[in-house]
Amino acid sequence: MFRLDGKVAIVTGGFRGLGRSMCVMLGQAGAHVIAADVLPDEVGQATVDAVSQAGGKCELMRLDVTSAEQVDQAMRGVHKRLEHIDILVNNAGIARDNLLLRVSDEDIQKTFAVNVTGAINCARSAIRVMMRSKAGRVVNLASVVGETGNPGQVVYSASKAALIGLTKTLSREYASRGITVNAVAPGYIDTDMTKNLPEEAKKLMIGQIPLGRVGQPEDVAAAVMFLCSDEASYITGQVIRVNGGMYV
Ligand code: NAD
Repeated sequence: MFRLDGKVAIVTGGFRGLGRSMCVMLGQAGAHVIAADVLPDEVGQATVDAVSQAGGKCELMRLDVTSAEQVDQAMRGVHKRLEHIDILVNNAGIARDNLLLRVSDEDIQKTFAVNVTGAINCARSAIRVMMRSKAGRVVNLASVVGETGNPGQVVYSASKAALIGLTKTLSREYASRGITVNAVAPGYIDTDMTKNLPEEAKKLMIGQIPLGRVGQPEDVAAAVMFLCSDEASYITGQVIRVNGGMYV
């Protein structure tokens, strides 16, 4: 069950956090994983090590998803070298939290550039390749706050809601080409992105989670892996919530 042998999988933002976990699970399932990120290779090496410890294969690719040109070159390069791209996980994301009146122009531009334009850039270049083999999987990392909203996260939640719209539209555009497009919307997950939250805020958050615990990166990675598998071939345009029941 859930084997990905022979598949080429690109995970953006794969050098750490949730992306690293996804690389490990996809690699363990047999995919040739490419972790793409802006961080230095020394950071990404931990992903390579984790994947290989799990018995998988992973390579690093320096990539800024905000550059359409870089993304296109990178996808063409992978296609030329490995002959196909089967899986794209649009996981790269940033959060610049602030109340509306304190949000800067740069916060808006940067957040949308990475979270939304970055995902569109990658989807456009990868789907162009996937269409040739009439098969593919795209998974976009949304967020619970893209559906519920959250004070202090106006720009981030708007960007994640945009990803849900993107997911639904792409699922309709490319279903006839054998390409599925889904979103995974994590709740509160234990990563670098959330570790700096004040203790008080963490307690409050856990109080709102019916399953009574913070999610682990593996909880999210498992949903991503399932959506990438053959077993999920009849699922497209969906938002899979991995949030401990925080929002149902
Ligand atoms: P993280 O900050 O640990 O990892 C994000 C990765 O994206 C980093 O490696 C970063 O270098 C990379 N990245 C940033 N800008 C990039 C760019 N321009 N090009 C390529 N890579 C870039 O965050 P995380 O917690 O692992 O989150 C991963 C995804 O899941 C994000 O999209 C995030 O919004 C989403 N998410 C996380 C949580 C959570 O609780 N951690 C909850 C909901 C959604």
